[in-house]
Amino acid sequence: MPKLFAISDKPTIIAGPCSAESPQQMQSAAASLVQDPRVTMIRLGVWKPRTRPGGFEGLGEPALKWVAALKKEHPGQRFCCEVARPEHVALCLQYGIDAVWIGSRTSVNPFLVGELAEAMRGTGLSAMVKNPITPDISLWLGAIERLQQAGIDDIAAVHRGFSTYNNFGYRNNPLWEIPIELKRRLPETLLLCDPSHIGGKRELVMPLSQIAFDLHFDGLMIECHPDPDNALTDCQQQITPDELKQILDSLKPRTYNETGPSDLQRLREQLDIIDTEMLRLLSQRMRISKDIGSIKRAHNMPIFQPLRWQQVLERQMQAATEMGLDSEFVRELTEKIHTQSLRMQK
Ligand code: PEP
Ligand code: MN
Repeated sequence: MPKLFAISDKPTIIAGPCSAESPQQMQSAAASLVQDPRVTMIRLGVWKPRTRPGGFEGLGEPALKWVAALKKEHPGQRFCCEVARPEHVALCLQYGIDAVWIGSRTSVNPFLVGELAEAMRGTGLSAMVKNPITPDISLWLGAIERLQQAGIDDIAAVHRGFSTYNNFGYRNNPLWEIPIELKRRLPETLLLCDPSHIGGKRELVMPLSQIAFDLHFDGLMIECHPDPDNALTDCQQQITPDELKQILDSLKPRTYNETGPSDLQRLREQLDIIDTEMLRLLSQRMRISKDIGSIKRAHNMPIFQPLRWQQVLERQMQAATEMGLDSEFVRELTEKIHTQSLRMQK
């Protein structure tokens, strides 16, 4: 079976409604989406994990029956939906769903992820793992590893933003450095961006998608509904199939040239030199620190001396202000260096 989530030059575009609501809604969505050859797969929500009770929780098995009918109508079209329990996996297989995803409220739970991985073992299902709601790269990596350990070899990661105390105007804080680090650690795993759940507003879908392309994401998962304003879930962030087409038409493969103009290259070379110099100084500092450790031991002095630490920190904070550096940043940096220094002395 060819992999659905193989890395390729062509972006993977998954689009479809947040929730499957009625046969008509799914039929209308599918009829529009199959016409756009850029759409790789249609998404739909069948079981909706809601943060708070009382909302629409999805229609379950009946919605999967509509998918089975749509697959007959549009042969070759692929469909994917979220699973949160092993029974969901069994039902998806029964109705011919091609790929499933583990949602962000599930990927946070290693027990559940383990059960889902076992339910998928040997089935040939392709799987996506959305980032956990908490900004914890290990949980995200761990969920992917649990699937791999169950023999699932066609996996994509989906970045949908994180729940933080301040989301800075987004529905979910993108914290782009986390998916970028995930991609650095798992270069062979397809990385998709879900701008709908990051932005939470339809006007943010286009700019967030462009950022994702600029950051080398391999594709997008976008919520798309024939009548977004009347959608039963996530009505503010869903877009129509026509709007999806416009967005896909206007996205540029990358809005900037990676190397940039020569003055940028020159400045970057200077940064590289400074970075190396900082490491050289740090290594010198650690050597001195080790010598201090030997002296402390010889004189039965404790390694950590609160008064001395207080002085070091105050000195650095004062210098930070004089040099126009952010004092919180310098405090964190100094704490990190000090901790490592104490480790060297032990
Ligand atoms: C969804 O894709 O509809 C969904 C609920 O996503 P998430 O798990 O990212 O919140
Ligand atoms: Mn949604």
